[in-house]
Amino acid sequence: MIGWILAGLAAATVYTAVKENEGGNNGNTSATKHGVSPSWEVKTISMSEYPPSMDVKPYMTDNFYIGSYLCPCCRNNMYKTVFRMGGEEYISVNGKLHIMKRLFTCPHCLSFYAPIEGHRLSDGSVYFLQCKYSEDYIPLISHYNSVGTTQGRPDA
Ligand SMILES: [Zn+2]
Repeated sequence: MIGWILAGLAAATVYTAVKENEGGNNGNTSATKHGVSPSWEVKTISMSEYPPSMDVKPYMTDNFYIGSYLCPCCRNNMYKTVFRMGGEEYISVNGKLHIMKRLFTCPHCLSFYAPIEGHRLSDGSVYFLQCKYSEDYIPLISHYNSVGTTQGRPDA
C-alpha cells in the first residue's frame, strides 16, 4: 500500500519548491518555504478520456479548467492548470525534486496528478498525490491556482 501522506502539512502550509534544492539530501530537502513538503509518488496508472459535460470549476479556483481526462479513482473529469514557461513548480518525489509543468486535480478525491517531464498524462506513469482531508487539499489547490494559468504550452 502506497501511502498518500502529506507529511506534516499544516493547514496553512503552502508547498513552494525552490529549484536550487534539487537533489537535496535524502528526504530531508528544505524544498518548502513554509513547511514540510508533501511527498508525491510515481504511480502507474491507465488514464482514460471522456469529453466533459459541463464546466464547473473546483472550489476557489480561476486557473483550473475542466479537461477530458477522467479521474482514475472516481471517473469524474479532472481539472487542469498549466504553469508558464519559467514558472514551473517543483515537487518532492522520494526526496528528490521533479519539475511539474501541468497539474491535474480531482476535487472529489482530493487528488493531484502530474505528467512526468517529457510525457503525457496518458503515458502510463504519473506523479500522484492524494490529500486525506480537505484542510490539506485547499492550501495546495489555492497555491497552484495562484501560480497556474489556463494557457497551454508547447512542450511536454
Ligand atoms: Zn476522483
